[in-house]
Amino acid sequence: MRLSTYFLPTLKENPSEAQVVSHRLMLRSGMIRQTSAGIYIWLPLGLKVLRNIEQIVREEQNRAGAQELLMPTIQSAELWQESGRYDAYGKEMLRITDRHDREMLYGPTNEEMITDLFRNNLKSYKDVPKMLYHIQWKFRDEIRPRFGVMRGREFLMKDTYSFDLDEEGARESYNKMYVAYLRTFARLGMVAIPVKADTGAIGGDLSHEFQILAETGESTLYYDKAIEEFELHKLTGDIDADTISSLQGIYAMEEEKHDPATCPVAAEDLRTAKGIEVGHIFYFGDKYSKAMGAQVTGPDGKLVNVEMGSYGIGVSRLVGALIEANHDENGIIWPEAVAPFKVGLVNLRGKDEACTVASEALYQKLQNAGVEVLYDDREVGGGVKFANMDLIGLPWQAVIGPKGLEKGVIEFKNRRTGEREELSEDELLNRLT
Ligand code: ATP
Ligand code: MG
Ligand code: MG
Ligand code: MG
Repeated sequence: MRLSTYFLPTLKENPSEAQVVSHRLMLRSGMIRQTSAGIYIWLPLGLKVLRNIEQIVREEQNRAGAQELLMPTIQSAELWQESGRYDAYGKEMLRITDRHDREMLYGPTNEEMITDLFRNNLKSYKDVPKMLYHIQWKFRDEIRPRFGVMRGREFLMKDTYSFDLDEEGARESYNKMYVAYLRTFARLGMVAIPVKADTGAIGGDLSHEFQILAETGESTLYYDKAIEEFELHKLTGDIDADTISSLQGIYAMEEEKHDPATCPVAAEDLRTAKGIEVGHIFYFGDKYSKAMGAQVTGPDGKLVNVEMGSYGIGVSRLVGALIEANHDENGIIWPEAVAPFKVGLVNLRGKDEACTVASEALYQKLQNAGVEVLYDDREVGGGVKFANMDLIGLPWQAVIGPKGLEKGVIEFKNRRTGEREELSEDELLNRLT
């Protein structure tokens, strides 16, 4: 992509409406624009990151055996009346009336719709277990939308639903998702701590929130420092049952679940921190299947309510959370796994014929090699180009200037470490492919 034609409206000044660094940087780097409170346009650069995260989430869901489908954003109120949540959900639900005066809503989540789909199509114990998911926009009329996409009103969520014959099966599905979440966040290079979360009226202990530590987080966490030894951001390989049970055995609680009176962790080992909830997994048994009549015939011919769980990841929230964890005073520092482009190519002297010829040639070669490259071919000074590249945070920068050309080298900069090297064109291509 050529920067001269790319739609990248960057801002020099810090926008006054943004309170947290990720929101500021997303606006400044031309990733998003707000259209109404908590509702955003994803500009080309932001959308690329969103899609990259979405793809990692998808791959890990597929790997865990979940099947992707796509449910609509608009739902009918009837299903929610059946489950009893139409009234209970309150003002966070955006309610809509269609031309025939039918009550509709913009889905905040999809338990009812998927339970309806299940009951209409699956009838036997042979049809389970099943895990189904979609990645779809949700709407919650949050009382205080803030922090940009981290607490939007419209946001992109991956939600999975599991269906099992009995509690034992449901626990297995739950642990499959637990592992998928560990792997997903590790692939994003994140430390997301699984903390036990409140299960409300349903009870039981099978609910975890995945929380990224950040001062601006809205959750409060209490955990045994032993959890740090797991190096969660490295858990991308096969995760065995022993690891799962020892990890789940470590004390790590969301505020509601933490009780100082019964907490077994010695005071000096107990950590408390603020967290951003990026994922939430929840086993809720027959809450919806019972209310909505989603039953299967067991091997003995008897009807049983199917056992369910739901598993969410805030895909759009993750974009902000990743920036909270990966930035410096000059801008964003994208992990390679989600970067919108792998390398930024800077032509330092657009008026210098040799520089332009060399830049154009390298741009072609990178594209031919399948490397995602953003080529700054604009007629502006080097300082502006460097500041812009640092702001948008591509992992690598390749700089072509007159001095380097004389020596036959290109400057190659690592955005995260700031380390610079001089490489020949071949060496540079080797490093990026
Ligand atoms: P929160 O406690 O932040 O309000 P929640 O517990 O209401 O989130 P869930 O119903 O568990 O959210 O939804 C699953 C995931 O969707 C959350 O873990 C979070 O990552 C994401 N999410 C929820 N609300 C929002 C929002 N308003 N904006 C962006 N992402 C959100
Ligand atoms: Mg909420
Ligand atoms: Mg929550
Ligand atoms: Mg939650």
